[in-house]
Amino acid sequence: MFTIISPDIQTYCDSHTEQESEVLKKLNRYTCANVLQPRMISGHFQGKFLAMLSKMIKPKYILEIGTYTGYSALCLAEGLHDDGKLITIDINPEQEDIITKSIEGAGLKNKVQFIVGDAYNIIKTLPYQYDLVFIDADKQNYLKYYEQVLPLVNSGGYIICDNVLWSGKVVEPDALLKDKDTIAINQFNDFVAKDARVEKILIPIRDGIYVCRKR
Ligand code: SAH
Ligand code: CA
Repeated sequence: MFTIISPDIQTYCDSHTEQESEVLKKLNRYTCANVLQPRMISGHFQGKFLAMLSKMIKPKYILEIGTYTGYSALCLAEGLHDDGKLITIDINPEQEDIITKSIEGAGLKNKVQFIVGDAYNIIKTLPYQYDLVFIDADKQNYLKYYEQVLPLVNSGGYIICDNVLWSGKVVEPDALLKDKDTIAINQFNDFVAKDARVEKILIPIRDGIYVCRKR
């Protein structure tokens, strides 16, 4: 897997980071063995980072765009307020069984809701305001999701966007000319950087995480 920091340093960081719970370990193993494109899973290190951010924010409502097998959803849910709720959306219905089982295994049945459908269309139908939104679906639509959710985020709330370094391609001239995803992510990053509505930091963890706080 692509890492910005050296593999030795990453291994060192991993070994000094809280271990995965049994449910997350099982979900990670299952995903790697049975699901297409397992590199999309957040995994141990990034998962702990997301859980830690969520525990700092203590959000009441979390929205996740792009569930995959539910790993990041379970991590983000760790920081939920006692009567909080996380809604996670994926266009692909194929992982519903494993997602549902993992949510139940983590004791989060009443707090985490998985919805199948196109995120943009689903979000339009939801009545919530959010303290934390995690954008991690189709990269070419990041800006569309960002503009859609920003009005739904409470002042002081966060939008966190994954894979914004796109395996480092955002600094490769060739990819910036020819690769559609790289072009879209780079335009998105430039837009966010200039957007006065949010305070932001692009963190070089794994594939790049943009943390934006609504003013
Ligand atoms: N958040 C997960 C990984 C998500 S991978 C984790 O960290 O473990 C990206 C996911 O976005 C895929 O499962 C894909 O099916 C989903 N996706 C792609 N286009 C989408 C859309 N228009 N609406 C909702 N989900 C979409
Ligand atoms: Ca991702």
